[in-house]
Amino acid sequence: MIGPGKAIGILGGGQLGRMLAHAAQSLGYRVHVYEPSGPSPAGAAADRETCAPYDDLPALEAFARSVDVVTYEFENIPAGPLEAIQSIVPLHPAPEVLHICQNRSREKAWLKANGFPHARYAEALGGDISAAVSEVGLPCVVKTADFGYDGKGQMRIAGGEDLAKAVAIFRGRRSVVERWVEFDREISVICARSGSGETRAFPAAENIHTNHILDISVVPARIAASAEAAASRLATEIAARLGVVGLLAVEMFLTREGELIVNELAPRPHNSGHWSIDGGETSQFEQHVRAICGLPLGPAGARGPSVMVNILGDAWTWRDGAVVGEPDWAAVLGEPAAKLHVYGKPAPRPGRKMGHFTVQSGTVEGALALARAVKARL
Ligand code: AMP
Repeated sequence: MIGPGKAIGILGGGQLGRMLAHAAQSLGYRVHVYEPSGPSPAGAAADRETCAPYDDLPALEAFARSVDVVTYEFENIPAGPLEAIQSIVPLHPAPEVLHICQNRSREKAWLKANGFPHARYAEALGGDISAAVSEVGLPCVVKTADFGYDGKGQMRIAGGEDLAKAVAIFRGRRSVVERWVEFDREISVICARSGSGETRAFPAAENIHTNHILDISVVPARIAASAEAAASRLATEIAARLGVVGLLAVEMFLTREGELIVNELAPRPHNSGHWSIDGGETSQFEQHVRAICGLPLGPAGARGPSVMVNILGDAWTWRDGAVVGEPDWAAVLGEPAAKLHVYGKPAPRPGRKMGHFTVQSGTVEGALALARAVKARL
């Protein structure tokens, strides 16, 4: 067990690292953030920050030697630095897990090989998507194999015109073509697993996206109890099969027929789990710290219905590409049922995640209506 008072290293300096640092420090850990792009939101909340590229081996080794365990909040970390760190200090989740989850093609192949439900897909790793689209059929969605998130590097193809455009856009890029799923709901289950194999799944969150970016998460998800139980089982089985130590977020589609289809895996805290900071018996960030440090896992239930709303850079007032006004923070802060979290990013940009708020209420519908009303005033 790596107990309070020890030091946790976090690779990546974004909002997930920041909230992880908050949780780690409240349990008495010291936190050291490693972020290549300069002073970061997580670094500002940490005891120490190293700003150096991932290929700066001396900086990475000094970082690894300064802590007792390392984790990451960002998936696009090359394999080399992870190996260098792992030779010095425990690294969770294991680099083998990250290797699978950071690339859509490997992730799909892993799901297929292990018998987990996924959308029909075909690889287009040679830079031409035409054959893969014919194999999968329309409608479908093309996604770049590497470095995709929040709908970036994605395009839906419904007909011939889209196809010609997509062929040109994705030419020369390693891609995966997936059958479009006519889902009833999008949900995610975040499961924590400790080194001893103990698992705890948070309740499923129902996720509502706008422009491919998560907009709202609703807990409990408005789905049948049988679907909730099946989603929880599925996420737990995947976490166990992968051998994750830490958190695994499993994004799924739920079809009208009640079928669950896995969309994506993320071996880290997840945007759809932010509700748990204010509405969970244990927050996902604390749970991640508990899992990677070998502490007992906390209870993973919800203390009542919660609705989390992302605050994007779009909430600022923009004129001719420049910010001319702040969001109306009082709209959130003046609502007793709402809790505001702002990530301390230096500059808002449209589509950039700047913060979130969580509303709690006695009923899901009440929380959702209140959250939407607050969002409209923001
Ligand atoms: P992703 O980056 O894979 O999480 O995709 C972002 C969002 O695009 C998802 O949350 C869905 O709303 C949508 N999407 C992605 N893949 C599919 C699919 N195969 N069928 C339907 N919708 C999808």
